[in-house]
Amino acid sequence: MVRYVYDFTEGGRDMADLLGGKGSNLAEMTRLGLPVPPGFTVTTEACRAFLETGSEPEGLWEEVSAHLAGLEASAGRSLGQPDDPLLLSVRSGAKFSMPGMMETILDIGLNDDSVLGLAKASGNERFAWDSYRRLVQMFGSTVMGVDSSRFERSLALLKDLRGVQDDVHLTASDLAELVETYKNLIHLETGDHFPQSPAEQLRRAILAVFESWNGERARLYRRREHIADDLGTAVNVQRMVFGNLGAHSGSGVAFTRDPATGRSGLYGDYLPDAQGEDVVAGIRNTVPLAELKRLDARSYDGLRTHMRTLERHYRDLCDIEFTIERGTLWMLQTRVGKRTAEAAFVLAAELADEGLITPDEALARVSGEGLARLMFPRFDASATGTALAHGVPASPGAAVGTVVFDSAQAVRRAAAGEKVVLVRQETTPDDLPGMIAAQAVLTSRGGKTSHAAVVARGMGKVCVCGAEELTVDTEARRFTAADGTVVEEGTVVSVDGSAGAVYAGSVPLVDSAVIRYLEDGRGGGGSQGVDVVDAVARALARADTVRRLEVRANADTPEDAVRARRFGAQGIGLCRTEHMFLGDRRKLVEQMILAGTDAERDRALADLLPLQRRDFVGILEAMDGLPVTIRLLDPPLHEFLPDHTELAVRIATAQARGEEPDAHDVALLGAVNRMHEENPMLGLRGVRLGLVVPGLVAMQVRAIGEAVTERLSAGGAPQAEIMVPLVGDVRELRLVRAEVQRVLAEISRAAGVVLDCPVGTMIELPRAALTAGRIAEEAEFFSFGTNDLTQTTWGFSRDDVEAEFFSAYLDKGVFSTSPFEALDREGVGRLVNIAVAEGRATRPDLKIGVCGEHGGDPDSVHFFHTAGLDYVSCSPFRVPVARLEAGRAAL
Ligand code: PEP
Ligand code: MG
Repeated sequence: MVRYVYDFTEGGRDMADLLGGKGSNLAEMTRLGLPVPPGFTVTTEACRAFLETGSEPEGLWEEVSAHLAGLEASAGRSLGQPDDPLLLSVRSGAKFSMPGMMETILDIGLNDDSVLGLAKASGNERFAWDSYRRLVQMFGSTVMGVDSSRFERSLALLKDLRGVQDDVHLTASDLAELVETYKNLIHLETGDHFPQSPAEQLRRAILAVFESWNGERARLYRRREHIADDLGTAVNVQRMVFGNLGAHSGSGVAFTRDPATGRSGLYGDYLPDAQGEDVVAGIRNTVPLAELKRLDARSYDGLRTHMRTLERHYRDLCDIEFTIERGTLWMLQTRVGKRTAEAAFVLAAELADEGLITPDEALARVSGEGLARLMFPRFDASATGTALAHGVPASPGAAVGTVVFDSAQAVRRAAAGEKVVLVRQETTPDDLPGMIAAQAVLTSRGGKTSHAAVVARGMGKVCVCGAEELTVDTEARRFTAADGTVVEEGTVVSVDGSAGAVYAGSVPLVDSAVIRYLEDGRGGGGSQGVDVVDAVARALARADTVRRLEVRANADTPEDAVRARRFGAQGIGLCRTEHMFLGDRRKLVEQMILAGTDAERDRALADLLPLQRRDFVGILEAMDGLPVTIRLLDPPLHEFLPDHTELAVRIATAQARGEEPDAHDVALLGAVNRMHEENPMLGLRGVRLGLVVPGLVAMQVRAIGEAVTERLSAGGAPQAEIMVPLVGDVRELRLVRAEVQRVLAEISRAAGVVLDCPVGTMIELPRAALTAGRIAEEAEFFSFGTNDLTQTTWGFSRDDVEAEFFSAYLDKGVFSTSPFEALDREGVGRLVNIAVAEGRATRPDLKIGVCGEHGGDPDSVHFFHTAGLDYVSCSPFRVPVARLEAGRAAL
């Protein structure tokens, strides 16, 4: 018999799969002896069973009833008991935090009778009716499907009628009237009544939370965060405690360290006389947590003690939700807190310094994605001018964009390629699509823990919230700054999420401190504790100590090679030679293609030779002492010819004018027509070119060989490796390799040196992977070209499909990330594994790397580590990311 319900006293933090994040942490806090209101968790398994069958799992209600009976016994009163009701909250809690994306229903147990009992027992009639009002509203919208704006409109209407601005000025009888209005509204909209039975309320609330797993918001969020769709959510049923019982009550959110910078201290927001939801919704402005010390020193001290307990127990930054009910402190939630990239690095270093975690754990706590974020530019402080507004620096970074005032507009404009800044009074989960589309989010209300702040931080999106000086007029689509400046929709602003400032116009950007450090070793040594540059340096140093994978760069100019080397590249894994055929050299390439005789072609190749040689000398010099893998020409030759339409128009125009068209143009057009391919990616490119165009391979190899010779005679230590692209069969490689060796032998003889240039191949076709054992007979190294390998394995054109239909595939869950971004382990990864095994079976010392884009993708780096590759190669800017991830993969 499956078990669907666990009491908080039975679970623990290692049960997040079953109990969700919130449930497992509530259980952990209960076990630690912290004051957690009693309750129980309905498992994710129950949710999955419900979603699969569409009906309540058998036996679930019996289990819930039994646990409820336990709760009632310990509380000494029953759910909805008319004279003194036990009330419950019902909250979602998936394995991975999805803030605000699913449903919560509070005050379960109130009805027309028990509201009177609550009024009497609490001695606060207004509070009782307000709680009932909240229940009917939440239940009506979440469980019974009434549009929530209908309730809001009724509330606004009543406030207008009473001439009050704030909810708090509505009296008990106003709220009682509102309850009636809400109940009528529900009946009118659904034909059904708000259920008076507390048990029915509970039962339906649990199922509604299950259902919210598949709500649009939740699905969108999961896609964005790469959370699997089949996990389901747990449901936590817990005794209500009230933060809205007057001045000695309140709710707050706290972090054991600053989630924006990672520095230690006590951070958080507190809202007196309010429920937790009011804090997160950012509806009223909170006070800093330090203020609680003045308001309620005992609760403040208790909170600090519990925070210390939690941080030492979890050995990490924790975020906490708490409520104070008439002077009694209750812990409602904790979890290892989301943090900015900067905070993650600083925190890891500080916790390691404090001895709470080991250096390896510190490395595991940071990520390549986070490092990449820290390498982004920030605003130039000297050029920022006067700020339009200041707010809470909720999520760091710099963004420039045009102002929009609603989610739909943000999505529309962003889809058209515009960079937008979403400005709202506060955000709600409905704003999620707009937040995803925007470069930055700016709100006039709410603190560091408001919805906007939490969600933006999770996404790594720039956010300034609580910019109170701003008056945001969504209807009129404009905001007014403190100095009276009116900013209309469509105006460009710059948002500094690190400083919490907003500027008019587009502010220029400067490099990040982390990039400065990576480029020239400057920075670090901040005055307050560990500085972010120190923290990054330490993480990278640790990664370099533990990693097995080498990291090389894809670079084809000496400048890129120099930068890559500064970033820690241990060589070049891919030097694409095609750019060396562009620019001024196009003419020579054209001559080579148009050559009518061997002699003409040889002349063109001979003219290209010194130019190529010079390129190689520069790169080998920049990478002196380190391997440089030079790939022979890969793209089809027609890519170096002018565009067909352009030529045809030129010729037609001349003819229309009665002039003789340019003979060169006519010859070129002939060549373009001759070389036209329907599928150039599957056409005459890579090794095929070398086998078909006489002299091409020889020229490139000669340029490489002579560059090596030149570097040797200059006292250098060049290590060129020659790589053949797009091989599908060992015979192709055998033919080209023979040519390579012939040319190298010639140069060696002429120069009187021994040229030792290993010859290897790219593995970028499924056939190459599947016949890798044979190919290794001729290859001294392999380098996986995972761009082409992904293209040819899936049959996806790498140049077209991302724009064409990937968004539909992502929507439909065919994959959660583009296989061109993160390696498809199941398909392409299988080919990689086969090729590694069979290649090494033939040649045990075969050196194997990867040089497709995946070489710099964190998840893929972990795969390549496990697959036993020797190195990954990626663009210079990704080199630090790959070093870090290669280290993490080795832990
Ligand atoms: C590849 O295909 O993965 C590769 C590195 O080559 P290119 O991107 O130049 O085709
Ligand atoms: Mg390729």
